[in-house]
Amino acid sequence: MKSSNKSNHKGINPRLLSGQKDLKKNNASTSQLFDLLKEGNITALSKAITLVESTNPKHQEQAQVLIQKCLPHSGNSVRIGITGVPGVGKSTFIEALGMQLIQEQKRVAVLAVDPTSSISKGSILGDKTRMENLSLHPYAFIRPSASGDTLGGVAQKTREVIILCEAAGFDTIIVETVGVGQSETAVHAMVDFFLLLKLAGAGDELQGIKRGIIEMADAIVINKADGDNKKAARMAVNAFAKALHLYPPKESDWTPKVHTCSALENEGIVEVWELIQSYTQEVQKTDYFTRKRQEQQSFWFLQTVDEHIKRAFYDTPEIKEKLELLLKKISENTISPFAAARQLLGSKSS
Ligand code: GDP
Repeated sequence: MKSSNKSNHKGINPRLLSGQKDLKKNNASTSQLFDLLKEGNITALSKAITLVESTNPKHQEQAQVLIQKCLPHSGNSVRIGITGVPGVGKSTFIEALGMQLIQEQKRVAVLAVDPTSSISKGSILGDKTRMENLSLHPYAFIRPSASGDTLGGVAQKTREVIILCEAAGFDTIIVETVGVGQSETAVHAMVDFFLLLKLAGAGDELQGIKRGIIEMADAIVINKADGDNKKAARMAVNAFAKALHLYPPKESDWTPKVHTCSALENEGIVEVWELIQSYTQEVQKTDYFTRKRQEQQSFWFLQTVDEHIKRAFYDTPEIKEKLELLLKKISENTISPFAAARQLLGSKSS
């Protein structure tokens, strides 16, 4: 340990202490932030996330330095994605699962991907009272969805926040999404295990469900299996189990499971956690766990490049101007959308 890092007689590392003071004054340097974050300091973690989410170029630069520093300390976690329609019980479920994990000495970070949050301001997880016990627990960290006008942007930030949380010592990362647009695909591409929460209906469970979601799910959990709903929940399990048989085997060799639970009554939650653990054990035996994470890294690299190219294109003043003009012409029916697109794309390089 370097001399500046040595603890004083009270056992407090003076370097961290001065970092804490600077953090309070909103003055902490990037390396002070990193030192504190690595010690699990939540204020430092929140501050680092704010930098990641900021659109200010200077903040972005600092954020990238931080992420780079955190990278070697990240990855040692289980990342769980949870999706389901509003009202299915996601936050009740995450609260129950999170408290179970904390009982097992885990440290749980809950993040969200909700590209609509900046429009509606009704961000999922925005209201911390949704997870009352978990949000108060020192071993839990709950962060609402990043705001942003594109799903790619929101998801990319969440992907970076995962790295920060892991470096801060969180070993279980839960990423929640409501499944608008392609947000499930984005979350699926950043987690190890993908869980779909459903409600039992009157035998029509499979209707109105996006085919792709079933394909992505490692588990389907029928929530609210309590009171009068128990029988319907059991029937839903059968319907989903049958439906899952129709899908080709997964690359992971894992057979998706269907379970019931009552998040409200805390029933079936331990079983879901055991299921997730048996999944991770199984895929860690092969190289699938590592391979999937590597593929996800490449995906995010390409995705980020894609986003930047698009943004740079649309932000060009000449393109903006021409775009407006062409949209007007399209609405007047004086040009076809395809010819307009060709003109616009050609105009950048011309
Ligand atoms: P979210 O929108 O998916 O996050 O759903 P919430 O967790 O906010 O739950 C929506 C409503 O369903 C709330 O009134 C919950 O109390 C209720 N709820 C959640 N889980 C259960 C459950 O297991 N059983 C019953 N009966 N109600 C539940």
